[in-house]
Amino acid sequence: MQFASDNSGPVHPEVLTALTEANRGYQMAYGADTQMNEVRDQIRGIFEAPRAAVYLVATGTAANALALSTLCQPWETVFCAPVAHIHEDECNAPEFFTGAKLTLVPGGDKMTPDALRQSILGEGNRGVHGPQRGPVSITQVTERGSVYTRSELQDLCDVAKEYSLPIHMDGARFTNALVALNCSPAEMTWKAGIDVVSFGGTKNGLMGVEAVVFFDESKAWEFELRRKRGAHLFSKHRYLSAQMAAYLRDDLWLKSARQANANCTHLAEGLRATGAEFLHEPQANMIFARFPRRQHRRLHDAGAVYHLWGDTLDGADDDEMLACRLVCDWSIGTDQIDRFLSLL
Ligand SMILES: *Cc1c(COP(=O)(O)O)cnc(C)c1O
Repeated sequence: MQFASDNSGPVHPEVLTALTEANRGYQMAYGADTQMNEVRDQIRGIFEAPRAAVYLVATGTAANALALSTLCQPWETVFCAPVAHIHEDECNAPEFFTGAKLTLVPGGDKMTPDALRQSILGEGNRGVHGPQRGPVSITQVTERGSVYTRSELQDLCDVAKEYSLPIHMDGARFTNALVALNCSPAEMTWKAGIDVVSFGGTKNGLMGVEAVVFFDESKAWEFELRRKRGAHLFSKHRYLSAQMAAYLRDDLWLKSARQANANCTHLAEGLRATGAEFLHEPQANMIFARFPRRQHRRLHDAGAVYHLWGDTLDGADDDEMLACRLVCDWSIGTDQIDRFLSLL
């Protein structure tokens, strides 16, 4: 009963098979492998962006920090939500790689156009003394499991474009959002105004690969230099390419995300039936819910694994409502979810 995160699950067997196949013979290093050509074509195809620049790195933190570093100068500020992974969970890598600072747009996990505009207006108006306005970074799926609709994305991008600011999407759970919205990758990105995407793979079945996709090819060479300087250019790069190629072949990326979201829906419906309270409406593969300590103890004792959210199991009051986060990946079986629910 593993609901800790979608990176505690296994690598998809088809990806492991592809890695074994990629392990035959010789390939040129540093991204000159033949499979990277396939990956570039696949990503350009799925994004309907024949000139997109496509790169692979091994962590989402690298993807975000390096992508943002090409969008921004050290004297600028990056606008993001207060719960953004780039703010809370990357140990200042974005600040390190960009040299810039982050400005938190007040509000919840989803930025609103009004709050973004107020934040933009609050910066860049103190001449040489203050931070200059820089990129906007949007997380899709958000860190609280919500999904921006296409029109919400469009409205945020419109505000950023009014001030000529570039827009980055942290898509660690890109495909979970995509299948939830049932739209095309182009519609969720460049057609709305997104300039660069961190296109996640690790949380959806890969061993450790994220793509960075630039719709503005003029950034390509700078990204290559920054990736190398930042120590994220893999020499045996074919093992990154092989994972991503397998992921995008035969719709594995879509099937995995649909399965993860369906698992989450099944779990959420069961939780709702037991009277659990939801902190956020689950829209992809993450649930933030509250239920009594007694139930958490029972689950914990039976071996269920998940994170409590700011609360602790210790405490005398069995009826106290404790918050938790439950994440479903593609691999968790219905039997495990049903066992969790029956214990609850
Ligand atoms: C998991 C995650 C990342 C990537 O994290 P790494 O541990 O660096 O791979 C980035 N953004 C969000 C929103 C995430 O959930």
